[in-house]
Amino acid sequence: MSAKAGQQTGKEAAKSLNREAMQVLEQEALNKRMGEIQHKIMVLSGKGGVGKSTVAANLAITLALDGYHMGLLDIDFHGPSIPKLLGIEDRVPRMGQGTIQPIEMSANLKVMSMGFLLSAQDLAVIWRGPLKMGAIKQFLKDVEWGKLDYLIIDSPPGTGDEPLSVAQLIPNIDGAIVVTSPQDLSVIDVRKSITFCRQVSVPVLGVIENMSGLVCPHCGREIQVFKKGGGERMAMEMNVPFLGSIPIDPQLVEASDKGVPFVSEYSKTETAKAFEGVVQTLLVGMGESHGKETLPPETKSERSAPQKKETSSLKIAIPVSQGKLAAHFGHSQQFALVEAEGGQIKKTTLATPPPHEPGALPRWLHEQGAQVIIAGGMGRRAQGHFESQGIQVVIGAASLTPEELVRGYLDGTLEMGENICDH
Ligand code: ADP
Ligand code: MG
Repeated sequence: MSAKAGQQTGKEAAKSLNREAMQVLEQEALNKRMGEIQHKIMVLSGKGGVGKSTVAANLAITLALDGYHMGLLDIDFHGPSIPKLLGIEDRVPRMGQGTIQPIEMSANLKVMSMGFLLSAQDLAVIWRGPLKMGAIKQFLKDVEWGKLDYLIIDSPPGTGDEPLSVAQLIPNIDGAIVVTSPQDLSVIDVRKSITFCRQVSVPVLGVIENMSGLVCPHCGREIQVFKKGGGERMAMEMNVPFLGSIPIDPQLVEASDKGVPFVSEYSKTETAKAFEGVVQTLLVGMGESHGKETLPPETKSERSAPQKKETSSLKIAIPVSQGKLAAHFGHSQQFALVEAEGGQIKKTTLATPPPHEPGALPRWLHEQGAQVIIAGGMGRRAQGHFESQGIQVVIGAASLTPEELVRGYLDGTLEMGENICDH
């Protein structure tokens, strides 16, 4: 080998070493970024048009409304639809040195899409698989989500480079949700998505059947359009959880076309409730005990014959208004935090809660160290939020002073009435 050729090979080797070192550093940065996010979930579908992006966006919004800190990431290079769906296509993310700020839709929901960043020219360049993977890697590494409870990743239809990159790049990804529609064809396609997940060792968190039945805009009743139940049957056959079905809803199309976040604008509709049902099933499956299903019926055990509490030290929260228990805990201006030790009340302090928002109060009371909340009435969903924060819920208490209530609670003589508010 000539000296020149030897030099050349040496340079090549140094370059390749550099490249490898860079890749290790990048992956480390990516891991660190993803490490701030508790749960990472990707949404897949066998084919396009089954409503995957619609479902991904509305799941993220539902979870955000439930009080979780959410991120929604759209990695569809060729048809990024999330910005339009949420009416934020004109927003421009702020870029720093190797950082991208997600768009903040609300206090709890941050959104980032390839659509914000790519021009048609860029698209032509990253058409090729390896470059796509590089772009996704950079995206995962650079977007400044901060701390999140969940990141929902909307990938393009099928099992191509994008979901593969996500599966390979995100350490400890929680799993994938597979969206299907009731036509047989997409049910067949969805099997491919499940097989793909198994091949890349990504757990299947469940299947959602979208466009299942039609909500009639006139009478509100459901009309069967396609054969129903295919998704559920297939989920059973493939031994994966079924998370629920979402009907075809003309209002959903209208909202998406207008760029209005559906579940927040139409929260009272059956379709929004269907999304909430899916979310609850998902949370239960992921081991989060928020599910309404996990709550004992009416939390009866707490209402009947409370036992004498000998706990050595205890902090009990009570929503108050004018010095007495406030019936509507959610709108209470203040909370009394009563500290007890060895069965004796030691101290009562008053604290002002954060603005009313689902899930915010339980989180805040947990931060205050509360182990029990005594309330007049409370909806089942709110009860779930408290229990998930490890706070015991006692409902049906009368309008007494915090000390009287805690005294009764500690002595086991607290008189419990009906849960006066169950919505
Ligand atoms: P994908 O991401 O699977 O390609 P999209 O989420 O973009 O699908 O949805 C495709 C179209 O179907 C959109 O026009 C959307 O508004 C509509 N759509 C999705 N889900 C529903 C539904 N449950 N009811 C009515 N229309 C829906
Ligand atoms: Mg889509």
